[in-house]
Amino acid sequence: MIDKKRLLLEQIKADILRNNICPDLAQEATNLVMGDGNINADVVFIGEAPGKKEDILGVPFVGASGKLLNEMLFTANMKRSDAYITNIVKYRPPNNRDPMISEKEAFWPYLVRQLDVIQPKVVVTLGRHSMNYFLPGQKIGNAHGQPSQIQFGNKKIIIVPLYHPAAALYNGSLRTILIKDFNKLSKIINVQKNK
Ligand code: URA
Repeated sequence: MIDKKRLLLEQIKADILRNNICPDLAQEATNLVMGDGNINADVVFIGEAPGKKEDILGVPFVGASGKLLNEMLFTANMKRSDAYITNIVKYRPPNNRDPMISEKEAFWPYLVRQLDVIQPKVVVTLGRHSMNYFLPGQKIGNAHGQPSQIQFGNKKIIIVPLYHPAAALYNGSLRTILIKDFNKLSKIINVQKNK
């Protein structure tokens, strides 16, 4: 089962390369950053796009935002190794600019395929870029930390939108909100696990 999942995830990566997705981003990038963590996880975190360090190492959330994400997971008694972590856009945008709508749209079908393989019970969106695809029209200021059940393909999944850790790096009040939301999240995941 695990090997089958791994193969399917490798196929998604191969398809992104073969279909030459976002060639302009690809040309500037060092790595295609697919994801990291446990492919059998109940929870998948989805950020925006790799930054400089992620591009160099080929792993999502290993720079400053990743450090904060790890801290948040730790304070909420969660392990990074119990989650799968990816981004909506899988190449680093130059100078860490916001991903463009066309880039997010180009990568969306591959993110859907990743979720189809991993089959998480809970999807956590980090920031508005990934939130808007799952909860269109919502505002992060109102929606953060609140679970919503959505129909996703032939499955129901719980979406929990959170602020992006980068937004909380230099903003103490957002950091406090993020800590509270991570604590809520760990309870939500435990409830879903035992269903
Ligand atoms: N920010 C993101 O959204 N993703 C990363 O992988 C790193 C920083």
